[in-house]
Amino acid sequence: MKILVISDIHANLPALESVLENSGPVDSIWCLGDVIGYGPYPNECIETLRELPNLVCLLGNHDAAALNRIPSETFNDEARQSLLWTRAVLKPANRAWLEERTETAVIDDTTLAHGSPRNPVWEYVLDQNTARQNFRSFKTNYCMVGHTHIPLAFHMVPRGRLLHFAFPPPGEPFMAPVRSILNPGSVGQPRDHDPRAAYAIFEIETGIWTPMRASYDIRSVQRRIREVELPERHAARLADGW
Ligand code: ZN
Repeated sequence: MKILVISDIHANLPALESVLENSGPVDSIWCLGDVIGYGPYPNECIETLRELPNLVCLLGNHDAAALNRIPSETFNDEARQSLLWTRAVLKPANRAWLEERTETAVIDDTTLAHGSPRNPVWEYVLDQNTARQNFRSFKTNYCMVGHTHIPLAFHMVPRGRLLHFAFPPPGEPFMAPVRSILNPGSVGQPRDHDPRAAYAIFEIETGIWTPMRASYDIRSVQRRIREVELPERHAARLADGW
């Protein structure tokens, strides 16, 4: 079983389309939330996902905010501007689809969460301390998270206290040891200074995780951001991946 693992699409349709094309045929798609927010194509991204067979898609903090479950004041000025715009343009059918998303999912030996298994919508797993504490919050072999927009892998040695931590390079498959937390990075707003869309391919039977990148037409997204008058910062950051 070949799984496409994606997260943090952030209403960036060209990035999502490029990932779907470049990943080739897969058996399932696991999306770790934040389908919308920041970007200019919220309806189009949801409509693309809704068409996909074998999709599991979680709720992220931006998705929850678009559903008015999180007050807009908790976001910084520019994120809030995008949030209010997203709320205004979101079609009822797409809103209803978002309403059905769950915060976590467990599929076979994998737990999925947007932020962390301990605090699924909000917590960032970026440092070893946070990762270490989160290993207590899932029982499966693997846990997959997004939210940080940075491809990362943490591995806890069984019965030990040792935690390994890596930024896995794109294109290089590695065997994810049992008890790993894996982050595919962000499709629509990467923050590791590589502007290409990030995703991962996971093979369930072998535990092989391959971080991948896909180029897309960044300029077209920037033009659209300016057309709909979303903050310039959200256009600028796409060019350099920050
Ligand atoms: Zn995000």
